Amino acid sequence: MPRNPRYDPLFEPVRIGPVTASNRFYAVPHAAGMTNSMPHMRAAFRGMKAAGGWGVVCSGYVSIDPGSDDAPLPYATLWDDDDVRSHALMTDAVHGHGALAGIELWHGGGSVMNRLTRLPTMSPSGTSWMATHVNFMGNQRPRVMDTHDIRALLAQQGAAARRARQAGFDIVYVYAGMGYLPYEFLLPEWNQRSDAYGGSVANRVRIVRELLEVTHEAVGGRCAVALRISLEELRARPSDTAPSEAHEVVGLLGDLPDLWDVKMDSSPTDCPPSRFAAEGSHEPVIDFVKKLTSKPVVGVGRFTSPDTMVSQVRRGVLDLIGAARPSIADPFLPLKIDEGRESEIRECIGCNICISSWHDGVPVRCTQNPTAGEEWRRGWHPERTPKAASAASVLVVGAGPAGLECALWLGRRGYAVSVAEAADDIGGRLRFETRLPGLGAWGRVVDWRRGQLERLTNVNIYRGNRLSADEILELGCAHVALATGSRWARLLYSPLELATGMLEAPGVLTPDDLAAGAAVAGPVVVYDFDNYYMGGVLAEHLARGGHAVSYVTPAGHASAWTIMSNEQPQVHRALFSAGVALHTLSRVTAFAEGAVTLANQFTNEERQLPCRSLVIVGARFANDALHRELGTRAGELAAAGIRSVTRIGDALAPGAIVHAVYSGHRYARELDADPAQLTLRRDAPLPGQS
Ligand code: ADP
Ligand code: SF4
Repeated sequence: MPRNPRYDPLFEPVRIGPVTASNRFYAVPHAAGMTNSMPHMRAAFRGMKAAGGWGVVCSGYVSIDPGSDDAPLPYATLWDDDDVRSHALMTDAVHGHGALAGIELWHGGGSVMNRLTRLPTMSPSGTSWMATHVNFMGNQRPRVMDTHDIRALLAQQGAAARRARQAGFDIVYVYAGMGYLPYEFLLPEWNQRSDAYGGSVANRVRIVRELLEVTHEAVGGRCAVALRISLEELRARPSDTAPSEAHEVVGLLGDLPDLWDVKMDSSPTDCPPSRFAAEGSHEPVIDFVKKLTSKPVVGVGRFTSPDTMVSQVRRGVLDLIGAARPSIADPFLPLKIDEGRESEIRECIGCNICISSWHDGVPVRCTQNPTAGEEWRRGWHPERTPKAASAASVLVVGAGPAGLECALWLGRRGYAVSVAEAADDIGGRLRFETRLPGLGAWGRVVDWRRGQLERLTNVNIYRGNRLSADEILELGCAHVALATGSRWARLLYSPLELATGMLEAPGVLTPDDLAAGAAVAGPVVVYDFDNYYMGGVLAEHLARGGHAVSYVTPAGHASAWTIMSNEQPQVHRALFSAGVALHTLSRVTAFAEGAVTLANQFTNEERQLPCRSLVIVGARFANDALHRELGTRAGELAAAGIRSVTRIGDALAPGAIVHAVYSGHRYARELDADPAQLTLRRDAPLPGQS
């Protein structure tokens, strides 16, 4: 199909200093968990975006010197010639598809702990980042930078920029954002210096100016020099000479960078979950930048709609449409727009599992795109799959995220697929969850698969069909994939941190009961030791529905794990604003006569809370009854011509939606495959690298 002319502006070339991007699609630097010890995975992951039509594809954050070490978070390095060769794999992969390659050179300053290198850390005035969450805490406090340190920093940036050029990068960054070293100079809380680098805005911005100058000098006009800068805090600060300090900073630097890459200051606002922020949420902070520079401006905003993208360009907000998450969820987004297939875009749902992968220290995982990170080690392509050797029949039982993903890719491979779903509509757990506050965008998991499945004539979906083992045997499909999901348990939580002790009593509910429409009587206690989104979002939902709600958890924070997905600050805000009372470090030990008994997790001191409905959000168990029954009927399976019965998704092991989709995808890819071909290739540093 031809491209919709409305989207033509997105395909205009953009000059960036000495180089030219072929279009306005710009895959911005983002962490993807692939360090220099995974150079092939990294090259394949970034190269896939170039194959999908992004005009520029950037690296993740790349340390310029051992004094900036973010271990155990996965960061890349460009410290020596071995590192140059490692990154050259990526630039080759990106150039192979005609895109420009950008590199985000980075020094973490007082935000890193140098746990690996054990070098002392440094910040402009010795200020340290005092994070409240364990995974960002450390016991190292930075030293105050002296003029020697400043000269050394400039030399390190220059040397790294020369290595970046050698590695084949076209755009080289100065990174003054997100609490890292150059950003620390910009804010008075970090910077109390009385020398030429502190005090006035002009002085605070000096280091950024000098970093830009040494980078220009190092690349000798052969690469563009980009400035990535966080403007959220600066925009909130009044200035005597401009509408805000952000205006002052941008005005002072003006045309010195070849490209402005503008963003927010902290991960939860820069990369906000869809639960709390809509597409384009950065605009009110960064909308002024283009007015103060003649150089192109790129910014992000979880853009998935081409109309929104065109509007950003037309209204003079951005020149280049930046994307991290949308480019992970669909590396082929630009090509789909170019080919008039925008309805096929696999839209990011804003769940931030990708970010959580970085916090976990592993290669990127994506709920929508199970092939992310698997391009090299499993050879998975996000758009293509090898055809099946036969058109054997496959029955998929259950049309939740696992069943739908499985059916889609089985269908694409050419199998004859039947999907049986007990409910009247597809979607599984998302039928309920997308009705909870802020989770509407998660429906894209179902919507995209629904749309893709409708194009396949070899996949038939039978709604309102709860299959029994007898019926499965009767159908006699060659392969059966059981995607029957999981159920929440009425279990309590022990001091040993185990789910144990069944609590069956009137008024005890689980999320499954609420999904099925169970009546709730207030006051309500939501007891959460699942720690992901469900407990918090249900508490918010019930409170907004008019109930008096208490949220109880043995953890130290509400929805404790959501610190990994950038949701937690806003989860707390949402609970407070909905009037939910928080009780942390507490276990529920009993529920009777209109009250729950809570025990302090550490002292066991008891107290009571009024409660008529207790919603337990804790353990989950697989719905594997069909699997167990079919397992006892091997003879009948063989007689019916059923060659395999396999559990996938939550029916195998309950997890987040990302795990269910991955499980369904993997089953579909691997059905009938030669076991010898199914090895998980292990990446390793290039020879010569330590
Ligand atoms: P997952 O996340 O693993 O996809 P879900 O719980 O979201 O799991 O989806 C499981 C789906 O399976 C639900 O829509 C449920 O209605 C369906 N299901 C469960 N048992 C059967 C069955 N026996 N026959 C057909 N559908 C079933
Ligand atoms: Fe988007 Fe979620 Fe995928 Fe991240 S993991 S790219 S937020 S769909």
